[in-house]
Amino acid sequence: MTTPTHSHASHASWLELDARALAANVALFRNLLAPDTRMGAVLKGNAYGHGFAQMLPLVHPLVDAIYVIDPQDALAIRERERKEGWPERQVVVLGAMGGEEAMACGKARVDVTIASGEWAEFVQTLRAAELAEPLRAHVHLDTGLGREGFTPEEVATHTAFLKDARDVITVCGALTHFANTEDVTEQTYAFHQLRTFASSSERLQASLGLPSLERHLAASAAAMLIPETRADIVRLGIALYGLWPSSETRLSARVVFGKQPQLAPVLSWKCESQLVKRIPQGAYVGYGCTWKAPRDSRIAVFPVGYFDGYPRLLSGRGHVLVGGARCPVVGRVMMNHLVVDVSDVVSDERPVVATLLGRDGGEEVCAELLGSWAQTINYEIVTRLGPHLRRVVV
Ligand SMILES: *Cc1c(COP(=O)(O)O)cnc(C)c1O
Repeated sequence: MTTPTHSHASHASWLELDARALAANVALFRNLLAPDTRMGAVLKGNAYGHGFAQMLPLVHPLVDAIYVIDPQDALAIRERERKEGWPERQVVVLGAMGGEEAMACGKARVDVTIASGEWAEFVQTLRAAELAEPLRAHVHLDTGLGREGFTPEEVATHTAFLKDARDVITVCGALTHFANTEDVTEQTYAFHQLRTFASSSERLQASLGLPSLERHLAASAAAMLIPETRADIVRLGIALYGLWPSSETRLSARVVFGKQPQLAPVLSWKCESQLVKRIPQGAYVGYGCTWKAPRDSRIAVFPVGYFDGYPRLLSGRGHVLVGGARCPVVGRVMMNHLVVDVSDVVSDERPVVATLLGRDGGEEVCAELLGSWAQTINYEIVTRLGPHLRRVVV
C-alpha cells in the first residue's frame, strides 16, 4: 500500500488489517475444533477496535456465526448481507436491548440473548409486530461470572414466562461466560462453571420442554485450553484478531499443545511524521519539560496522541519502530502529538514512518507490550483505537 501524503488528523495515522493473518487464526481454530463444533466470531467493541465495517467482510465468509453486543450492529450485518449479496449468517446479539429493538431483531432474523426477567414485558410488543417467524433467543445463564444471566436458583422461575410465549419466542440456545479462564494456569473455577452450566441448561431445557438447545460457553481462552467447553459453538474474540487472552493462556497453551500455537496479529498501527528536526543538547521536549536532550538530537513529531488511543501512560516509557529500530517516546504523550528521539536512525530531516503497533524488520511492538506499559491489557489497547482512524486491509 502507499503511504498517505495528506496530513488531515484522522488520516495522519492509520491501521493496517492483515487479511491473511485473520485467515491463519481461523484455520488454527478449525484444526483445533471437532468438525461438528461451529465457530463464532465476536465483533463487539468496533471489532476489538480493528473496525467493524472493515472486519465484517473479512470475517463473514470464514465463520459460522457472528456475535455482537449492540443490536444496531446486528441489523447493520443484515443490511450489509443484503447489499453485498452475501448469504445470511447466524447473528447473535449478546447485549441488552429494549422491546423495539427485540422486534427489529425478530424481523431481521437476528438471534437475541435473554438475560433477565425484563424480557417478559417484551412479549406483547413482539405479538403486535406479527413476525413471520418467532424471534430466536438464547438464554444466558450466570454460572459464576456474576454478570448478566439467570443464576441456578432463578433459572426455572424467571424463565417460566417463556412457556407462554412460544408463539413469538423460540428458545434455541443456552450460554454462559467464564470468569477466570485467562488469569490462571489451573482451571478449577472453569470446571465448576462447566458443571453448573450443564445442570442449569438441563433444567432450562426440561422446564421449557425443549427438544434441543445450542450450547455455547467458550471464549478464546477456554476454546483453546479446555476441550470440554467447546460444546456446539465457540465464541472467539481476541484470538481471532491474533492476540493472546493473557500471558497465562499463552503459557498454558504451550503446555497443552507441547509447543506454543502461533497466533498472527491482524492489526498494525502506523504514522508518518509531520516534522523531523534537530534540537541542541539541553533542549526540552513536551509539556512539563519532562525530557531534556542529553545530546544534540534529532526528534520526529508524529500527529498522533492519546485522542487516537495512544495511552498517555506511555510518556517517557514507550518506544515506536522507525526503520526497523526501537526509538524512544520522549517527553509526554500529548492529545494529538507524540515526539520520538530518532537520532540513531536518521541523518536528515525527511519524513519517517513509525510503527506504533506491529512489526518493522526484526522488531515488534505488540498490543501486550503497549498494555503492560500502560498498566492495562491488550484488549483495552486495541479497543480504544479511535474509530476515526483510517483502516486499510492489506
Ligand atoms: C467478549 C466475549 C467473548 C469473547 O471473548 P475473548 O476472550 O475475546 O475471546 C465471548 N463471549 C462473551 C459473552 C463475551 O462478552
